[in-house]
Amino acid sequence: MYDVIIVGVGPAGGSAGLFTAKAGKKTLVIDNGKSITKRAWMENHYGVAEISGPDMVELGKEQIKKFGGEILEAEATNMKKADDGIIVETDQGEYKAKHVILATGMNTSLGEKAGVKTKPGTEPRVKTIYDVDADGKTNIEGVWAAGTCAGVSMHTIITAGDGAKVAINIISELNGERYVDHDVLKS
Ligand SMILES: Cc1cc2nc3c(=O)[nH]c(=O)nc-3n(C[C@H](O)[C@H](O)[C@H](O)COP(=O)(O)OP(=O)(O)OC[C@H]3O[C@@H](n4cnc5c(N)ncnc54)[C@H](O)[C@@H]3O)c2cc1C
Repeated sequence: MYDVIIVGVGPAGGSAGLFTAKAGKKTLVIDNGKSITKRAWMENHYGVAEISGPDMVELGKEQIKKFGGEILEAEATNMKKADDGIIVETDQGEYKAKHVILATGMNTSLGEKAGVKTKPGTEPRVKTIYDVDADGKTNIEGVWAAGTCAGVSMHTIITAGDGAKVAINIISELNGERYVDHDVLKS
């Protein structure tokens, strides 16, 4: 049983996984290796002079693993409610978590199959997005969405920030109080 399963390890899912793993939550990130970020080159990510999409994704995976998060290369094929959480079905078996974050970029087919409500996208080339509230919650309890599939502007600083926001909301729910992750400069 995981605290959080995240589907997608682009900037949104990767950032969410970094926060949940660093907060000590048992984290599994599932990705099928089809991130469009692999084609990107970034010179507009604040605090980073320039970075390639593949480097950003690989660095993100290492950050997740550093804090004990697990990464599974697999296709998530469906989700279903269990008494005590959500089961994510993949082509490599089933995994259960208290919370699931959909961070699947331009692809909303996984959530649609499982009954997650969608609506038309507003960003260029993004046809369909999940219908989430301000916290990132979908209509299915325990299922959240972040990044492009949740309708935010398709830029790494924003999708990564949205993934972090949703992760912090989940960590806060699990802890029963608002969560903050501040490391202090060592003198
Ligand atoms: C050519 C190009 C250039 C770009 N240039 C810039 C730029 O200069 N600056 C900038 O800020 N942004 C740029 N971007 C946008 C940026 O790269 C990201 O695409 C954006 O931040 C979206 O991130 P995301 O995490 O929401 O989605 P994605 O990065 O698309 O990640 C979604 C992940 O979910 C996985 N997935 C989906 N469904 C499943 C499933 N069922 N099972 C398992 N895994 C699944 C996908 O394989 C993917 O890895 C560019 C994008 C492209 C394509």
